[in-house]
Amino acid sequence: MSIAENISHVHDRIAVAARRAGRNPQEIALLAVSKTFPAGHIRQAYEAGMRIFGENRVQEFATKAEAVRELREAQWHMIGHLQTNKAAKAVELFSAVDSVDSLKLAEKLNVAAQKIGKKLAVLIELNLGGEEAKSGIAPDKPELEQILEAAPQLEHLAIHGLMTIPPFTEDPQQARPYFRKLRELRDKIGARKLPGINMDTLSMGMSHDFEVAIDEGSTCVRVGTAIFGERTRT
Ligand SMILES: *Cc1c(COP(=O)(O)O)cnc(C)c1O
Repeated sequence: MSIAENISHVHDRIAVAARRAGRNPQEIALLAVSKTFPAGHIRQAYEAGMRIFGENRVQEFATKAEAVRELREAQWHMIGHLQTNKAAKAVELFSAVDSVDSLKLAEKLNVAAQKIGKKLAVLIELNLGGEEAKSGIAPDKPELEQILEAAPQLEHLAIHGLMTIPPFTEDPQQARPYFRKLRELRDKIGARKLPGINMDTLSMGMSHDFEVAIDEGSTCVRVGTAIFGERTRT
């Protein structure tokens, strides 16, 4: 199967899942996760209509950025753990950081965005599975409230929702409680009408579980394998 055929198949799966959940498929953005794949693959996906791409390493995307610069309408999202010392580079390369997991990182991104006159779209990443090795803020940690409270001062960030990666399980239904929890958290934060905070986006669902995520309210699914094929590393 070609990348274009894979994308078409993913769109079909999104449409079926959305309809089954009584939702409009247009509400669900498809982000193509191009990590580990070369610029040529990104170009093929772009030609097949993809406009939002996700990468998980600053260094890796830096090496591809030149080759994809001509893809004018593309938006580049950083979706992997970001070290604070790479914040400035990330702000240069990406239009969005979907994996903000500390106040310190949010502050660094804000300063770097101010320096180059950019408004950076960001999501707050939650770690709902309690997995030590995974990034994201555990819901019982003070970081989440700290970021929410600091939002009015983070003038160069546009905080617009939450992101999560549930623990991996073979059966996608096992991810449902985590997706549901992220939606409930989003609803709770949204209801507080905090200054500088918009909670429209719920980034959740990957190749093997995005139907369940859509059923639980996802507005952005991040799909790598189902578009580009198997990776040799994660
Ligand atoms: C790699 C990755 C994905 C895509 O995973 P697939 O299973 O290949 O669809 C989604 N989100 C994040 C944060 C990733 O790192």
